Amino acid sequence: MIGVGDMVLLEPLTEDSFLENLKKRFDHNEIYTYIGSVVISLNPYRSLPIYTPDKVEEYRNRNFYELSPHIYALADEAYRSLRDQDKDQCILITGESGAGKTEASKLVMSYVAAVCGKGQEVNKVKEQLLQSNPVLEAFGNAKTVRNDNSSRFGKYMDIEFDFKGDPLGGVISNYLLEKSRVVKQPRGERNFHIFYQLLSGAPDDTLKKLKLERDFSKYNYLSLDSATVSGLDDAANFRTVRNAMQIVGFMEDEMQSVLELVAAVLKLGNIEFKPESRCNGMDESRIKDKNDLKEMCELLGTEQSVLERAFSYRTVEAKMEKVSTTLNVAQAQAKTRHKVMGVLDIYGFEIFEDNSFEQFIINYCNEKLQQIFIELTLREEQEEYIREGIEWTNIEYFNNAVICDLIENNQNGILAMLDEECLRPGTVTDETFLDKLNTICADHQHFESRLSKNSKFLNDHSLPHNCFRIQHYAGKVLYRVEGFVDKNNDLLYRDLSQAMYKANHSLIKQLFPEGNPAKVNLKRPPTAGFQFKASVGTLMSNLQSKNPNYIRCIKPNDKKASHVFNGSLVCHQARYLGLMENVRVRRAGYAFRQAYEPCLERYKMLCKNTWPHWKGRARQGVEVLMTDLQVPAEEFSYCRSKIFIRNPRTLFFLEEKRKQ
Ligand code: ATP
Ligand code: MG
Repeated sequence: MIGVGDMVLLEPLTEDSFLENLKKRFDHNEIYTYIGSVVISLNPYRSLPIYTPDKVEEYRNRNFYELSPHIYALADEAYRSLRDQDKDQCILITGESGAGKTEASKLVMSYVAAVCGKGQEVNKVKEQLLQSNPVLEAFGNAKTVRNDNSSRFGKYMDIEFDFKGDPLGGVISNYLLEKSRVVKQPRGERNFHIFYQLLSGAPDDTLKKLKLERDFSKYNYLSLDSATVSGLDDAANFRTVRNAMQIVGFMEDEMQSVLELVAAVLKLGNIEFKPESRCNGMDESRIKDKNDLKEMCELLGTEQSVLERAFSYRTVEAKMEKVSTTLNVAQAQAKTRHKVMGVLDIYGFEIFEDNSFEQFIINYCNEKLQQIFIELTLREEQEEYIREGIEWTNIEYFNNAVICDLIENNQNGILAMLDEECLRPGTVTDETFLDKLNTICADHQHFESRLSKNSKFLNDHSLPHNCFRIQHYAGKVLYRVEGFVDKNNDLLYRDLSQAMYKANHSLIKQLFPEGNPAKVNLKRPPTAGFQFKASVGTLMSNLQSKNPNYIRCIKPNDKKASHVFNGSLVCHQARYLGLMENVRVRRAGYAFRQAYEPCLERYKMLCKNTWPHWKGRARQGVEVLMTDLQVPAEEFSYCRSKIFIRNPRTLFFLEEKRKQ
């Protein structure tokens, strides 16, 4: 073993020794390290020969602590506990952009696919589950400065299994796709992969049908400074995506519809407007060159005049709009009880130079995930000690509930106030929203703003007037309020949705149900913030109902380089992920615990007094067992319902004995 495989066993435990251990292991290609059952994963930025079928076999059905740390060990533990103990699992993967979350989620999925049942039907389901990745990535990932394949949406996938542990299917939820990227990309970044894939990889006749040219430079929506990415073969990926769509279940005509839509978006980006003066003295906008519009209409089956009007006019109605939500397949299906493994791959904490509504929402989600982490690992650990009657020396940890409250409190949380502003009659601007925060949040200990009511930050020049700052658990983030109101409103004007609904194109029609004139409703659609908060709420209760497994991804450097370990960068991530606290809690007590019954079941074969049948209570059986095996008394503690084992080595010892 290079260094120490489980940080719980690190001696002495300091931040320096923690980082040194990570570095030492990383330098020897050991990218995984445990903190008890939590897996720390360092991005190697190169392919390592550790994901072969042989490796899968090695980790299959082995005890978590038996082999050197690996993501497969976590996947195996989760899968077996789901299959054999009927406990729903969730795998929570966190870390910043480029840390390796998506790769980790795919590794978990492919491991589970490799070890679960075989057979034609099952294999088909597995293929579909695995092939959902290339499809989602084509439409939801993009090259950013941080990651050449950055997920611009959060993904949660529930994989359902039958009683035997064979996969039945999956339900994928997406969170907050970064829609604005379609229209504009930051310097050095690209639009979503699919645009480049289509233009590079589609055969000539497909492009012709879609009225497209192969040349990226013909399209305003495709940034040119980084159109090709080294190591990324858009043309080959197009074929992969088409193939994956087929496996996932798209019919040929559905695929064609999707591509028509992609083409129409490219055309849309080329439509330019010019002002035109009218005799009544008003300016109107007119479309400059109508060819792109014409082709877009042909692709979507819309009438040119209808679309043109929708682009140029906005009907202001006194009535409020409402979108009636149709049930998705998962909601509509009658629920039968299946075993479920959820895999969450969601954007990590973001601190950019310029942070807007999107970062605010993303960071809110991360606060909630941290909250779950605190609740489930740290607090539950303490509570379990108390419940089991073990003495607990209190460990200080920062509880971020107070920050979650600042953001989501129904009365005076930032999201509630943003909604209030958005719904208020009269002139509403980003500035009036900030004014409101300055009054209502002024005294919150995690809120900072230059003009806040209590003037605490009046002389803080690091705080521009149009910004507010939140002290997140992961660090301070400055948010510029510009765009908050618009982005939260997220309004699509009725003229546009109705024009789209009129299209003679089944996919487009489905995408704009609110354009259906028969569905004119009086209520306003919920704001983006409200919807996100609700979906985060649902996600959290879903996660809370499952047994959590954590993968904490760490980015070793900012250069996407292999072999480079930037100590201060890693240290920063380890701090805000709360990893040291995590180790301290684990060490304060016992690395492993097991209820008496399963413990006796597993090890009774090691002692003639308990084998084959133990007549008395399970706890006494375990006591007899431990005494007989001469495990030193300080190594374990008999608690109310479980035996607590201090050191994983004791566990290795027992496991070894079983094999002899
Ligand atoms: P984002 O939040 O931007 O989506 P992420 O955490 O999902 O980032 P990934 O896309 O998983 O990051 O990883 C970024 C890149 O790092 C991958 O494209 C791959 O090149 C490399 N990488 C990550 N994990 C591994 C691994 N285990 N082995 C080899 N390369 C890896
Ligand atoms: Mg990702």
